[in-house]
Amino acid sequence: MSVLTVCPYCGTGCQIVVNEQGTEERVTGYSRSPVNAGKLCIKGYSGLSYNFSRDRLKHPMIKRDGEFVRASWKEALDETADRLLEIIKQYGPDSIAFQASAKCTNEENYLMQKIARVVGTNNVDHCARSCHSPTALGLITTLGAGAATGSIESLSASRTYFVIGSNTTEQHPIIGTKLVTERKKGKNLVVADPRRTQLAELATIHLQFNPGTDVALLDSIMYVILEEHLEDEKFISDRTEGFPEFRKAIDKHSPEITEGITGIKPEELRRAARLIARDRPTSILYAMGITQHIHGTENVMSVSNLALLTGNIGVRGSGIFPLRGQNNVQGSSDMGVLSEWYPGYVPVDSPRVERFEKLWNKRLPRNKGLALSEMFDAAAEGRVKAIYVMGENPLVTEASVSDVETAIHNLELFVVQDIFMTLTAGEADIVLPASTSLEKEGTFTNTERRIQKVNAVYPSPGEAKPDWWILNEIGKRISGIQGYESPREIFEEIRQAIPGYAGATYENIYPTGKQWPINAENPEGTEILHTKTFPLGRAKFVPVVYAPPAESVDEKYDMIMTTGRNYFHYHSGTMSRRTDILERESPEPYVEINAVDARRLGIRNSQTVTVESRHGTIRTKARITEKVPPGIVFVPFHYDESRVNRLVGKQVDKLSKIPEFKVVAVRVFA
Ligand code: SF4
Repeated sequence: MSVLTVCPYCGTGCQIVVNEQGTEERVTGYSRSPVNAGKLCIKGYSGLSYNFSRDRLKHPMIKRDGEFVRASWKEALDETADRLLEIIKQYGPDSIAFQASAKCTNEENYLMQKIARVVGTNNVDHCARSCHSPTALGLITTLGAGAATGSIESLSASRTYFVIGSNTTEQHPIIGTKLVTERKKGKNLVVADPRRTQLAELATIHLQFNPGTDVALLDSIMYVILEEHLEDEKFISDRTEGFPEFRKAIDKHSPEITEGITGIKPEELRRAARLIARDRPTSILYAMGITQHIHGTENVMSVSNLALLTGNIGVRGSGIFPLRGQNNVQGSSDMGVLSEWYPGYVPVDSPRVERFEKLWNKRLPRNKGLALSEMFDAAAEGRVKAIYVMGENPLVTEASVSDVETAIHNLELFVVQDIFMTLTAGEADIVLPASTSLEKEGTFTNTERRIQKVNAVYPSPGEAKPDWWILNEIGKRISGIQGYESPREIFEEIRQAIPGYAGATYENIYPTGKQWPINAENPEGTEILHTKTFPLGRAKFVPVVYAPPAESVDEKYDMIMTTGRNYFHYHSGTMSRRTDILERESPEPYVEINAVDARRLGIRNSQTVTVESRHGTIRTKARITEKVPPGIVFVPFHYDESRVNRLVGKQVDKLSKIPEFKVVAVRVFA
């Protein structure tokens, strides 16, 4: 039997065909998919065996006297609900918090936020807070929609690609392959990245700028465009507002002035600016190298300013592409598992919340809830008494994990619903075993807004249940919702809740998905956004002025560490590290360090070293490489035996609340 579904890893959302043969699964890329046209990366081809891992959680468990004891579903659900209700009764609804997951389906995320809000709290958030919350906020502010403006397929129509803060060939390999193919055809590729990535090696120009200086770099590119009159005057006058104020802010950022900040030679920067502005259409692609900063939202708005200045919005081959990390970051954000937005990005304090009050027949909270990072602070302070986590591993992925540990220990109730006994699940009072996305039905929305059908290939092991089923049972017990019979029934409600999803059905999105908005005016979905008008009428230029990152080097902490992913693993490694082929390729944590620094510090390749920041210490293997320049080290965050987020401090972007994972002052020693 063959089943068509979606790869469970990155936000590219490749469609896979799984031929089930017991546990010997065979996977191929779906040849008709507009996303991947039959291609897959190693995670798509060889990354599914975690489904059959012996470590899978198979039964609910409740901790008694410090030990997990097997429980029945009824016992676990009743105890979870009773304890949550008791806490709400005693301390009020804002004493509980929910963490949803971009690994779960739209239906599951929608259900989790509905339960939270019907119970009376907006304390519901998820991992997009730590990856693309600046994208949602930044692009909603400037364009009116926090999403990619084009399609993956439309990238073929670009003449120039500007990739900033994205290691695309390793992190979104199918999109990366497309860029490499187009580059080999002679298209222009400008890569701005502190690391010499594979894509940077192929680039027409590699701007190897200093970490955390994105705004200075982008502003000086725009300075050159204005200085040389390369802006799109017609687009600016017909379709935007705020240009004079923006122009004034740019005046302070000549390449000669910013060279001291970014480290980029003015002539190099001028060449890049000319390619981006002259050889259009240009697509701008970015990932967490742009967002994971204390100025993450300003970085995104600066990217948007560049697209508007050059008229690179609304036509095929142009546009802004925020590359989403997890497979359903776009969808879970659309579903409203963000503490400041109801589904469809309706602000919690907007009169439009009435739509949900009618739909859910309940008066709903209008105050901003706690963002992910704030939930743990509130738990440490005793304001939040219970946290319910679905499919996430914050003890590996959150900044300042030592503080997260302390916060969890201060809770009266900690519930984790997951597929494995992760580091985080090990700290729970109650563990609820969940199905993987290969074992359930629903939808994911990929990085280009494509709503795709997810289908069950395998049965769940033991008594594991789909997340929507577990939430449904909890919701009936604590929020009085009437419950759902199937994910399809939840999706039908999503169509009523979110106008952009109104025209999508399980039938018409099959087999190749459709890009939102899909509605009466756009029954086939919408490939390119903003072709004639913006949701705001006109797009907004927002003046952004450079400010330095939170941390800088000093005599003791003399290097900058940046964190990220590698090709073989994914996020906290929960799935990829239980997949033999992926684990074999990258079995242990490491720090990338330049040979110049290694020599200076007396460090040999593969030697175990200490990386110490102002916040913590880890031990890991040194990997000497030219990928990082002198003065910068890179550490991937997949490895729970050497958690790099021990080194990351609590500084967050004041607008989006994303922590600054990309700039941490460290020292490295043998
Ligand atoms: Fe899966 Fe992403 Fe690889 Fe596609 S590019 S196969 S979605 S991990």
